[in-house]
Amino acid sequence: CGIVGYVGPKQAAPFLLEGLTKLEYRGYDSAGIAVFDGNKINVEKSVGRLSILQKKVENHMPVGTIGIGHTRWATHGRPSDVNSHPHTDCTGRFVVVHNGIIENYLHIKERLIAKGHVFTSETDTEVVAHLVEEYYTGDFEAAVKKVLAEIDGSYALVFMCQDHPDKLICTKQDNPLVIGLGEGENFIASDIPAIINRTRKTYILSDGEMAIVTKDSVWVMNRQGVPVTKKIFEVNWDA
Ligand code: GLU
Repeated sequence: CGIVGYVGPKQAAPFLLEGLTKLEYRGYDSAGIAVFDGNKINVEKSVGRLSILQKKVENHMPVGTIGIGHTRWATHGRPSDVNSHPHTDCTGRFVVVHNGIIENYLHIKERLIAKGHVFTSETDTEVVAHLVEEYYTGDFEAAVKKVLAEIDGSYALVFMCQDHPDKLICTKQDNPLVIGLGEGENFIASDIPAIINRTRKTYILSDGEMAIVTKDSVWVMNRQGVPVTKKIFEVNWDA
C-alpha cells in the first residue's frame, strides 16, 4: 500500500518511518523496514499500527544509510508479522517491498518450491524476492529484469541487494511510484507526501519503467532497457 526508500549519507530508518507516517492516510494493516548495516540487511516488521513498529525499533533503530519501507494492505495472506513486508529470499541477501498483486504468483511459487526454495509467508510478494535470488549470478540489474519479464499483475516494487549496497532498483506497473531527487541523496515513494519534507524535485515513473537509484544518480530505462530521459516534476504544493 505504501512504499518508501532511501539512499544517501544519512541514517535511512528515521526517514523511512517518517515517510511511512505520511502515507498512513491510505490505510494499512502492517508495516516494516529493511536497512543495510554495512554487513547485512536487517528487517524489522510488525502487524498493526506504525506506532507498534516504531516502539519495536525505538531502542535499537536499524543502522545504515540505505533502506526500504512498506505499509501493507493485505491482499494475499492475512495481516501478520510474517506476511508483512519487506520480504526476503532464503538467504536474506535480497529484500523487496511491493504494492499491488502478482497475479501469477502461485505458478511461480510452485516452481520455486520444486527447486528447493523455502517460503515463509502466504503473500504473493514473496515470490519476487525468491525469483531475484534464483536469477542472480552477480548482476543485480539483470536479475531484476528477468523477474520483471516473468511476473504478471500490478505492482510498484523496490529491490535491495546485500551485494550491491549502493543502489535501489525500482519499477512500476499500474501502481504509482515517484523518485525524490535530493543533494547527494535520493528517495523513493509510492506517493509525494512521503518525500515532500526532503525534496520537491521528483521523477514520476511511468508504467514499465525501471530506475537504478544511487545516492548521486538516477538511471531510468524502459522495458526494453533503453535509457529514458525524465523531466523533473517540481512539486509546488504543501503536504
Ligand atoms: N499483495 C501484497 C500483499 O498482500 C501487497 C499488498 C499491498 O499493496 O500492500 O502482501
